[in-house]
Amino acid sequence: MAFWTYILRCADGSYYTGHTDNLEQRIAQHHAGEIPACYTAPRRPLELVRAEEFPTREEALAAEQQIKGWSRAKKEALIAGDWERLILARSSRTDSVHGSTGSPRTEPGRSARAGSAGSPRTTPDRLASSDAGAVSDAAADPTHDEHWMRHALALADRAQHEDDEIPVGAVLVSAGGEVLGEGWNRNITDRDPTAHAEIVAMRQAGARLGNHRLLGSTLYVTLEPCAMCAMAMVHARIARVVYAAADPKTGAAGSVFDLLADARHNHRVAVQGGVLAEGAGRRLSNYFRTKRGKPPL
Ligand SMILES: [Zn+2]
Repeated sequence: MAFWTYILRCADGSYYTGHTDNLEQRIAQHHAGEIPACYTAPRRPLELVRAEEFPTREEALAAEQQIKGWSRAKKEALIAGDWERLILARSSRTDSVHGSTGSPRTEPGRSARAGSAGSPRTTPDRLASSDAGAVSDAAADPTHDEHWMRHALALADRAQHEDDEIPVGAVLVSAGGEVLGEGWNRNITDRDPTAHAEIVAMRQAGARLGNHRLLGSTLYVTLEPCAMCAMAMVHARIARVVYAAADPKTGAAGSVFDLLADARHNHRVAVQGGVLAEGAGRRLSNYFRTKRGKPPL
């Protein structure tokens, strides 16, 4: 059985977010006004502007709650599929009272959310920072990709210096600018073929959030992801990946495979490469030169 999180645009321009296990029937009920107590009934006609499928009700509900905590601008960025704008949008707060945070009470099993219409601060938002002010300003800084890539490069240095591993580092950052997980290559140390920096960071984030979906997040990694990591990012519904150095041998973000942008996935990850690529490439070259007994460049 599949579950859906959906967004309706109402006639008054507001948005309504809900979840269901029967999308077609539920949307027909909204259109017909057959859910009388629902926020949408007096706001028809309605337009379905987004629907995303999840394997479990818990995940669909978590996505619904997350979106409900978002500002109108951020919801519109999500609907438009504009990941850049989604990342930069403020996570919630003042303008969401004009948005879709009406409080439908018609769905059994829907978790109670006190004061949802007027109190966006009470909305659980797994990915937004609890301290939106400072971090959102940082996220709005156009140089923040470089800021986070420097963070990932520092993690790559730790891979080499602490574990003598190939220097690749990764940090996963929420839409609100909060670090959700970080890691570096630990294949040899952990005797784990899957322990690439990206996987380590995503595992940490999943454990921290209590959710294997990492919606709206951006992953910064110092080397273009391989096919394994790229698919894990698709499964995790990561919004965007920024990498430094390209990997002409196994890169799956366009160099060898192009898995993140493949139109056959039901989720696509926005990709940007080449951020601080020189520093990342130098670390990798020097690591392998040292292994071959050559001096670093
Ligand atoms: Zn990988």
